[in-house]
Amino acid sequence: MNAAPPNSPPPVAKPPLEKATTAGNYFVSNYPPYAFWKPEFVPEFLAALDRPPGSLPASGPQPVAAGSPPPLGLYVHIPFCRKRCHFCYFKVYTDKDSQAIRAYLDALVRELTLYVGKPFVGGRRPRFIYFGGGTPSYLSVDQLRHLADGLQRLLPWDAVEEVTFECEPGTLTEPKLEAIRALGVTRLSLGIEHFDDHILEINGRAHRSREITRAYAYARQVGFPQINIDLIAGMVEETEEKWRLAVARTLELAPDSVTIYQMEIPYNTTIYRQMKAEGRLVAPVADWDTKRRWVDYAFTEFEKAGYTVASAYTVVKDPARTRFVYRDYLWAGADLVSLGVASFGHIGGTHYQNHHDFDTYLAPLREGRLPVYRALTPTPEERYIREFILQLKLGRVSAEYFARKFGEDPRTKFAAPLARLKAGGFLENGGDRIALTRAGLLQVDRLLHEFFKPEHNTGRYA
Ligand code: SF4
Repeated sequence: MNAAPPNSPPPVAKPPLEKATTAGNYFVSNYPPYAFWKPEFVPEFLAALDRPPGSLPASGPQPVAAGSPPPLGLYVHIPFCRKRCHFCYFKVYTDKDSQAIRAYLDALVRELTLYVGKPFVGGRRPRFIYFGGGTPSYLSVDQLRHLADGLQRLLPWDAVEEVTFECEPGTLTEPKLEAIRALGVTRLSLGIEHFDDHILEINGRAHRSREITRAYAYARQVGFPQINIDLIAGMVEETEEKWRLAVARTLELAPDSVTIYQMEIPYNTTIYRQMKAEGRLVAPVADWDTKRRWVDYAFTEFEKAGYTVASAYTVVKDPARTRFVYRDYLWAGADLVSLGVASFGHIGGTHYQNHHDFDTYLAPLREGRLPVYRALTPTPEERYIREFILQLKLGRVSAEYFARKFGEDPRTKFAAPLARLKAGGFLENGGDRIALTRAGLLQVDRLLHEFFKPEHNTGRYA
């Protein structure tokens, strides 16, 4: 019999076709969802630039203790790739020549120029920097130096705790890795995704396993403090056996951390376009149960080798030594100046996103204006939800931290969704800690919708 006993919370809502991988976003990267960010709210972003650091637009809970402004971070989007992967949903270009790339790099520096004089910086230096994409390692050594010099002249990196740099293995040579390290990069993130050449090819990746082996060996020789490997569970034509081999190959390399994503098929991917043309609702990849099982297998193998599960997506070899500063500061309400086409930032309590086409991004900068396309200022309650759901992706949050910061205990505020998670077997009992079970951790992005305001649980996430 399946009927729930009287007064028990209703089971966690499951959308139709929950098991199969259908089109849409799974990964929750921010809150409220992007669809609620609007061009008409850009003046709120401009007002945020003119307030001193740590002050918020509305009354209500403050994100930091009075007198201590939040850490400042810098995200730099490099939207160039050798080839577009079939599952990619980022803004990337594969056809730009060196002149266009140079114009883009100069625009990034010009964009930062417009930020540095604003009151919200308030003398802060960036504590963390992230070069993401796209493929930052697509840039030549000269282009990289030109960009980093321009950025550092405006906002010195003397207070940074971490500089992350994303790489595609096929773009890396020993001199380029030496140049990347010389820039001050501390965390090298290798987008390996898989080791099987057929899987790499059929998913549209530009690199092959030979390039992974070579790039990883160079990176170790150069001596980066932290090397992260990205994998994806459930690529097109993934099998049980090939996934196990991918996990084994990763273990052989012994990286400092491993990030594992479950394959999702957002609408703006080549795979979705093909599904649409063929009238298919279900993507040609493993279902969600299988992908969770594969991540669970990987987590278990890494744990056997001494790694620790540090979030829904990551394992780390030495948690005492290996941090991920960008994630931890951002998920605790840091300010993030985001440069580049289509990039997302967060300043003084207001979210913003830049224009998402090359020319519409460059044009305002030529006129000395910031290229911001849309914005949203979350309410105090939305700021609380945002921080809570992002930290829940770590697998555990401290109730005391949230009670102190936002003035209300999350066990009271979120009593109903927490009870639903508990009833579904996704939550552990834990005193001050609100902790997910392994089953909860493996599907956390789906469960986070339980904490959304009702008006934010509709339609597409993007
Ligand atoms: S390398 Fe990354 S950013 Fe570039 S196309 Fe592939 S998935 Fe997208």
